[in-house]
Amino acid sequence: MVTARVPEQQVKIGPTRLLINNEWVESVSDRRFETINPTTGEVICDVAEADAPDVEKAVQAARAAFSRGEWTKLSATRRGELLYKLADLIEQNIDELARLETLDNGKPLQDSLGDLGLVIGCYRYYAGWADKVQGKTIPINGPYFCYTRHEPVGVVGQIIPWNFPLLMQAWKLAPALATGNTVVMKTAEQTPLSALRVGELIVEAGFPPGVVNILSGYGPTAGAAIARHMDIDKVAFTGSTEVGHLIMEAAAKSNLKRVTLELGGKSPNIVFADADMDAAIAGSHDALFFNQGQCCCAGSRVFVEEKCYDEFVAKSVEQAKQRIVGNPFDESTEQGPQVDKDQFDRVMGYIESGMREGAQMLCGGSRVGDKGFFIAPTVFADVRDEMKIAQEEIFGPVMSIIKFKDIDEVIQRANTTMYGLAAAVWTQDISKAHAIAHNVRAGTVWVNCYDVFDAAAPFGGFKQSGIGRELGEYGLQQYTEVKTVTIKL
Ligand code: ADP
Repeated sequence: MVTARVPEQQVKIGPTRLLINNEWVESVSDRRFETINPTTGEVICDVAEADAPDVEKAVQAARAAFSRGEWTKLSATRRGELLYKLADLIEQNIDELARLETLDNGKPLQDSLGDLGLVIGCYRYYAGWADKVQGKTIPINGPYFCYTRHEPVGVVGQIIPWNFPLLMQAWKLAPALATGNTVVMKTAEQTPLSALRVGELIVEAGFPPGVVNILSGYGPTAGAAIARHMDIDKVAFTGSTEVGHLIMEAAAKSNLKRVTLELGGKSPNIVFADADMDAAIAGSHDALFFNQGQCCCAGSRVFVEEKCYDEFVAKSVEQAKQRIVGNPFDESTEQGPQVDKDQFDRVMGYIESGMREGAQMLCGGSRVGDKGFFIAPTVFADVRDEMKIAQEEIFGPVMSIIKFKDIDEVIQRANTTMYGLAAAVWTQDISKAHAIAHNVRAGTVWVNCYDVFDAAAPFGGFKQSGIGRELGEYGLQQYTEVKTVTIKL
């Protein structure tokens, strides 16, 4: 059931310049770059292209705002109020923002609206935290009074990806601002538009100049300039593990800025024969195909117990064939295009490699339509651990189903990867559920569910899936420095 049509809707584009010091400016070089509509392959518009000199300007604005103290010394309650105000403004503009997200990223409009629910929730959650970040009083030995303060880290560089542009912006901005940092954010070159529109709402909400600066631009230029900048105190990055290594190296070679990373994954999704099979099949389908398969935590290694393997494979193929691919603005659409031609080509390359290495392709495998970057939902069965499609992050609508015999074996195989972002288990047996939850090395384990996200629940990776946690109270720790104050009595 596949159609790929062009969206006829009009979408309001919003700002296309850089936001520095609450002003919309062209880049120092005056260069601009095009952002492409992945549904049609056509240019939407061009936006100002930041490079190192623009990063410099933005850092100076953020440093001045931090040093002036009108932000950091603003009452914490007032910082929270501004975040609530921003959440309200986003809510008032939810339809416009969702359409802009769908236009630039290609995700179905219903999914953009779903993301926006989480975006608003995230700003409100951290707004509530702003005046609840507290230190401790510590009973040290001797005639002293000792306490800690949780102070902002300072100027924070944030580099975000294209798969959830608005949500990744919220995950990064909300905890940084709640704790009194100032920010230089670089969005992904594929999807600059929605974050800039939020920039407009940030100014409207009344955040002081320089507190949030938003730059559109490329990774090796503007992104690298953030990672190596001597006056940025911390860099928070979400993207590929490969670039995560570069960010950490640049931080080490410059000023030892603090580094938090949310990187790739190859998450095991483990299905036991005793599971509620319909729920496991539907849940595993969503775990892989949601967001065109472009999720760092996608359930991309589906381990299925031998006893239910044939049933699981047959029904999963049926479900994949039913998935509605097409114009992301249509209400019934479940899957839009991949974000750009590079991603499309990469995913098609993995499909070829799966066939070459002898996995059994049971549906999909081809392009959909004659324009845009649509790929038919693809299911491979009889995948073996050593195949490339079982090892590397595909980031596309390609399910790899792998057979297993028993729990010890599947735990060991689930852990044989450099990644450790997420995992899931489907079973009615509480002992098996706990055994998987405790023994699989991953930052998040879902039991009989998948992709359950909440601003209060931390998210992040073990091993090469990242450093640090985002969301929840844990997420705040990454945006504060602990200062110990000792007073002689
Ligand atoms: P993907 O391959 O999914 O696009 P990337 O890790 O390349 O993931 O990109 C995630 C973000 O990192 C984007 O904002 C991108 O511009 C940025 N980026 C890419 N390369 C670098 C780099 N060398 N230094 C800093 N940021 C980078």
